[in-house]
Amino acid sequence: MPQWRKNGIVDRDAFRKAGENGFLMVWPDEKYGGLGDSDFRFEQIIIEETCRADCHEFFATVHSRLVGPYFEHFGSDEQKERFLPPCVSGKKILAIAMTEPGAGSDLAGMKTTLRQDGDHYILNGSKTYISNGINADLIIVAAKTDPENDPYAMALCVVESDMQGFARGQNLEKMGLKAQDTAELFFNDIQIPKDNILGDPRKGFFYMMQGLAEERLIGATQMSAAARKAFEVTREYVMERRAFGKAVADQQNTQFKMAEMEAEIDMLQVFVDHCVALHNQGKLTAVKAAKAKLQAAEIEWRMVDLGVQLHGGAGYMHEYPICRMFLDARISRILAGTSEIMKLIIGREVFSEQYKSFFE
Ligand SMILES: Cc1cc2nc3c(=O)[nH]c(=O)nc-3n(C[C@H](O)[C@H](O)[C@H](O)COP(=O)(O)OP(=O)(O)OC[C@H]3O[C@@H](n4cnc5c(N)ncnc54)[C@H](O)[C@@H]3O)c2cc1C
Repeated sequence: MPQWRKNGIVDRDAFRKAGENGFLMVWPDEKYGGLGDSDFRFEQIIIEETCRADCHEFFATVHSRLVGPYFEHFGSDEQKERFLPPCVSGKKILAIAMTEPGAGSDLAGMKTTLRQDGDHYILNGSKTYISNGINADLIIVAAKTDPENDPYAMALCVVESDMQGFARGQNLEKMGLKAQDTAELFFNDIQIPKDNILGDPRKGFFYMMQGLAEERLIGATQMSAAARKAFEVTREYVMERRAFGKAVADQQNTQFKMAEMEAEIDMLQVFVDHCVALHNQGKLTAVKAAKAKLQAAEIEWRMVDLGVQLHGGAGYMHEYPICRMFLDARISRILAGTSEIMKLIIGREVFSEQYKSFFE
């Protein structure tokens, strides 16, 4: 991991090795190389253990569970046969490109277009902040197909990195997540065969919305694991560090603050597990997923902030893991929908006819 941080990118070999050992895309059918079991708990364990091993910048889950399922849910049999096996094995790396310089939270504001031209389509536009953007071989790109009449008519098309007209920008320099490659992508008159369109070329927006609950659950799982890791790192430090003749852990302030966080993180874990169980039953709603993601991001943030504070000056030094955790955690309240957007989703239901209390 330290070398990947220096390089600003995860080694492609890590995907291949994860694939060889069965840790990438566990859910596809056995005929495509997977286990054929989409129980989200497999993914949850991989996410939690990756975080525990201090490898959370290895965005294998973006590949495995955030992008890969688009092939399963919206792809034809031919597309599944073509795209799934090399992704399960880690030979090909996946990314998803929705965000543009002028459109993030408000995806309907995107400018990238996909226009039909005889027996194929032509893709034009650009995307930014794309995770795995430098490593990716296959990128699912969202583009408008009827921009004049319907801002929500969008297609999801598969761009292959060797297609003419495809270019990557630089690996963007970020505040944290230093080992994760995040890039701008450019599409200049790319010819997209019809066979590379997933599902109905007008329904991409609807498809993306369908995937968002799971994306937020993935975020919540990762963030609650990161909060727990920051808690453990801080706990160890304050038990060892001495001030005024006793361990920092012996100060009542430290005990109260850590007790508050322990209670918050435990409750978060229970809610995340509840959402995982609902998801496995096909019952996870957008609102529940938004609640989990909102709380996970905010609790992680409170924990890393406390962690830095309890480390004192050491918390400000890169050589201490809590410093990196603090910098990496800042994205959690923005990525996969900002905390404000999560509140918007929850707030809409609170004041709607569909409102039900937790116990109903
Ligand atoms: C490290 C990193 C990795 C990323 N990876 C990917 C990726 O792989 N693929 C991809 O497509 N995108 C990716 N993104 C983009 C990410 O999803 C967006 O940055 C995010 O959705 C926010 O969009 P934005 O940056 O345009 O912010 P904006 O939408 O411009 O928001 C700016 C501020 O306005 C607030 N705001 C916006 N609308 C409202 C509203 N209606 N009510 C209240 N407040 C509002 C927001 O909450 C935020 O505080 C990544 C971003 C980062 C930084």
